[in-house]
This record gives sequence, structure tokens and C-alpha cells, in this order.
Amino acid sequence: MKKLNDGISAIKPSQTLAIASLAKQMVEHGHKVCNFAAGEPDFDTPEVIKQAAIEALNQGKTKYTPVAGVPKLCQALSDKFKHDNKLDYKPSQIIVSCGGKHSLALVFQTLLNPGDEVLIPAPYWLSYPEMVRVAGGAPVFIHTTADQGFKITPQHIERLATSRTKAIVINSPSNPTGVMYTPAELHALGETALKHDIAIVSDEIYEKMVYDGNQQVSMASFSKAFYDNTITVNGFSKTYSMTGWRLGYTAGPENFIKAMNALQSHCASAPNTFAQWGAIAALEKGESSVKEMVAAFDARRHRIYELAAAIPGIKCVKPTGAFYVFPDVSSFGLDSMVFSKRLLEEEHMAVVPGVAFGADDCVRLSYACGMSEIEDGMTRLARFCAKL
Ligand SMILES: *Cc1c(COP(=O)(O)O)cnc(C)c1O
Repeated sequence: MKKLNDGISAIKPSQTLAIASLAKQMVEHGHKVCNFAAGEPDFDTPEVIKQAAIEALNQGKTKYTPVAGVPKLCQALSDKFKHDNKLDYKPSQIIVSCGGKHSLALVFQTLLNPGDEVLIPAPYWLSYPEMVRVAGGAPVFIHTTADQGFKITPQHIERLATSRTKAIVINSPSNPTGVMYTPAELHALGETALKHDIAIVSDEIYEKMVYDGNQQVSMASFSKAFYDNTITVNGFSKTYSMTGWRLGYTAGPENFIKAMNALQSHCASAPNTFAQWGAIAALEKGESSVKEMVAAFDARRHRIYELAAAIPGIKCVKPTGAFYVFPDVSSFGLDSMVFSKRLLEEEHMAVVPGVAFGADDCVRLSYACGMSEIEDGMTRLARFCAKL
């Protein structure tokens, strides 16, 4: 066989796998492992959503849908954008894909030519750089620290923008940091991107998981110029606890979505049919369940932050969105992989090493777990840190 695809060959295998398999082994050996490594909500999908999918199956909704998704779902998403995000996207400007991850992969493939640069604020969600590489692009990282509140500024963009810079990824609220930008900060970042003709890929998957009375604002909603220059990505996984259903969606300029449709028609045909009928029910009837889940996450957020921030040597930015905290543990002198491995081996507590997100000073704790597990886990973490 001749040489494999260069883009694929450049992908790094997941660095978190080693920790995950070690944790699994421990559970198999009968140990109780406090698991803060999950990347998904712990709640079951709300019943109304499940029932809608079951009904769809029973009604024989088991064939291909149009490439961009069931027209009724695209219309419901168009209504959602108007209502939640003050955005006017026609159904023809929306495409449903097989998860937000799939949406983003298609976005980069649609957008990039070989050598195009994409600005990625770090810490970043671990798939962005690899998706950009697969699409032939070059990720350019903007590093931020806990002291900077894990936020980039317009000056960062000014410094790194070149004639090859095609796009910037904005993920607010963020996985892994739980940090979100204020509307004024987002606007300033967008203005700078516009000035350099850099498209904005806005990953708004955690839009509804926001706390302290904050309101997530969509990048595309600031002005016509922003709207024309932004690709908005969202999905059902996190908001409705539907990770296994595999449904995400993209909205943007008509010609962009048309090109994405052509790509999706050849690599997925369309997303799962009965899952889409569940998604329609999520949009129509899921709001109260979302409120309940977000309230539970909020209570856990307060507790985990309070306990983690009180541990000597840990530096913690209080998260205002998503369901993660991202403490800086660099004062203990271990890299994030060693810290995470030892924490698992010595205290049976699983976290994700920050190196996976381009931040070797930190570890990611997800609070998609019960309150008693949070209490137990923070006791273990405190004991471990005291020992170092
Ligand atoms: C979970 C997640 C996604 C998409 O997840 P899907 O399950 O593929 O919809 C996208 N972006 C971020 C930042 C995420 O954390």
C-alpha cells in the first residue's frame, strides 16, 4: 500500500485514552472510581423526547430524510434561532448533521484550502485542531492561562492574523474551561476578525448551560456584517442530554450551507431519521427538562468550585457555563498526565489531563456526577494534593 493521507497521518491519537482505559480496569477489579472525566451529562434523555422517537419508529419513519434534515426540524430550528438567538436563518440556511462534531468537521472541510490557517484559542476542545488538519488547514493556537481567565483578546488576533488566516473558532461557554465571554468581549473579538476578513466559527453547544444570570449571545447576531461572516454550530447532545442520538446543526450564509449540503450528501446522506423526530420534540417540549438539568448543574458547580478552590496550591477560575472546572495544578510540579495518572492510581479519581486540551498546567473535572461524588472526589483530590 502507498503512503496514507497526509492530513489523517498528522492526527494524534487521543491522549486521554490511556487514563480512560486505566480507570475502566480499576472498575473491573472492583474499585470504586470517582469519575470526573465524563464529557457528557449524566441525566437520561427526557421522556418526551424518547417517546417522540419511539412514535416515529412505530409510524415507519425509517427511511432517508432530505440531506439537510427533516423539513419540520429545519423549520423548528429556524424558529429556535429567532426566539433564542435573535437570528434570522431560513430553513435553507440550516443543515442537521450526525452530531455537533460531524457538523464542525464538515464546516472545516467546506471552508478550508490547503495551508489555510485557523486561529484556535487554547485551552481548546480537543477535536478542533485535528479537524482542521484533516481538512488540510493549519491550526494556529492562541494560548491563555488561568490568570487571563482563559480568555483571548483582540490583540491576540491582531498579532497572529496573516493573509492565510481563514477562520477563528470561538467556543463560549467553553469546554474545557467553563469560561464564557461577555457580549462586549465577543463583539470586540468579532470586530477584529472582521477587520482581517477572518470567518468566525461559533461553537454554541453550551449556550443553555449558563449560570449567574449570564446570557449567551450569538456571535452572528451583532450585525449584518457579523451575520455574513459567521458560521453558527450547535447541537442536541449537551442541552438535552442526547449525546448518543448524534444530532448537531449548522447555520450560516446560504451559499456556505449549500456547499455543506453537497458534502454531506456524499458522506452521510442525512442524519438518523427517528432521532430527528425526537429532536423536534426536544425543541417543542424540552424546555422545562433543560431548566431542571441546568439548575442541578448549577448547584454542583457552586459546590465543586468552592471545594476545589479551597485546596492549597490549586488555582481555579470560577466557571460560568458548561459543566467543567479546569483547575491549574502546576504548583505541584507534575505535568498534567503524570498528575492525572497518579491521582487515579493513588486516589481512584479520574480526571482528564489538560495536555489533551493544549494546557499542560491544568486538569479537567466534569461535574456531570452526583453531589455526593463531588464531595467524595474533592476529599480525595485534597488528600492527594496535600501529599505532593
Ligand atoms: C460535546 C461538544 C461538541 C459536540 O458534541 P456532539 O455530541 O458531537 O454533538 C462540540 N463542541 C464542544 C465544545 C463540545 O464539548
